[in-house]
Amino acid sequence: MPALDEILQAQLQQRKDQQLYRQLVPTEILPDGYIRRNGKTYLNFSSNDYFGLSQHPDVIAAARDALSISGAGASALVTGYHPYLETLAANLAKAKNTEAALIFGSGYLANIGTISALVGKGDLILADKLCHACMVDGAQLSGATFRRFRHNDMEHLGQLLAERKQYRHCLILTETVFSMDGDCAPLAAIQKLAQRHDAWLMSDDAHGLGITDSSFPRKRESGANALKDSRLRGDDDVIQMGTLSKGLGAYGGYVCGSQTLVDYLVNTARSAIFTTALPPSIVAAADKALSILMSDTELGRAPLNHARHFTSLLGLPEAQSPIVPLVLGEAEQAIAASKQLAEEGFWVSAIRPPTVPASTSRLRFSFSALHKTVDIKRLVTAIRKNID
Ligand SMILES: *Cc1c(COP(=O)(O)O)cnc(C)c1O
Repeated sequence: MPALDEILQAQLQQRKDQQLYRQLVPTEILPDGYIRRNGKTYLNFSSNDYFGLSQHPDVIAAARDALSISGAGASALVTGYHPYLETLAANLAKAKNTEAALIFGSGYLANIGTISALVGKGDLILADKLCHACMVDGAQLSGATFRRFRHNDMEHLGQLLAERKQYRHCLILTETVFSMDGDCAPLAAIQKLAQRHDAWLMSDDAHGLGITDSSFPRKRESGANALKDSRLRGDDDVIQMGTLSKGLGAYGGYVCGSQTLVDYLVNTARSAIFTTALPPSIVAAADKALSILMSDTELGRAPLNHARHFTSLLGLPEAQSPIVPLVLGEAEQAIAASKQLAEEGFWVSAIRPPTVPASTSRLRFSFSALHKTVDIKRLVTAIRKNID
């Protein structure tokens, strides 16, 4: 019998042969959108900190002020539900125009806990083909029948909904902004289909907060946002999930919806019940970041403006979000392109299977309010020189 390590080594070697091997690289985050790894400094185009709020002095101060203790010390249902958590939940609900919100330890935990609490055996989940891995994991954990519709394809979703009657409940899963493609879901159309077929809709807003209409339905009526069609009615049958770890620059996840939904999740979502609550300092940071984002419209627009500048300079379809993919094909092509840009001082991670489908390996650019217009121009020059 081969030893454990021998078996694992063989599997790792397979990944190496396919250029799919992954490694952790210590990375320091520097000011102004720069990072340092392996002793070199790069301008970072692979961060989800879209507004630079992880470095905002007021956010740091809020975290520091809450540092009389370093951890929550218990799960939220025991003694870990610090008043900061209650405040943040109320502010998230207000931002999303819902009755209530529940904070989870991360977006990953929010998705697996919520999906598996809402549906189970005898129920149907219909998920967009490009839904994030943690929605897929939640679906699998739930034991419900799991079907996927072609990306943003309402006709296909409609076809799958025709079988809905054979099931007790039906949950539709999508993302507001798709994490690896940067395009947006037609939420209004999905919501209409959901209502017609008596299905619930859960949207993952990990990359949309502060950017699309769906994020702040009340405040951003006037347009100028990524997606006019993306506004969700804050009614009971919509479950709005998101993360504190990206645009808010902190850590954690949340679900916004009706008070009944939140009460139900408090009682049933295992990933919220059997885990320690978030440290108060990170919650205070997220709350401060949210209040900055909600009050500063300039800041909210900066990442998308940079992305649109980038796509217009390169003659690409207009960016719908701060995420712009450049699909190159095989993993080795994406890795080579990433290395070339690194040599020019730009960090753009190559995204490979299983994160994206086979033969769609890509560079994924994400733009931040920390970038400057001249940075975008320099990046485009480097792309023109190195990638055809
Ligand atoms: C990052 C991400 C998550 C997970 O959020 P974390 O807070 O990082 O765990 C969930 N859904 C999508 C679409 C994401 O991109």
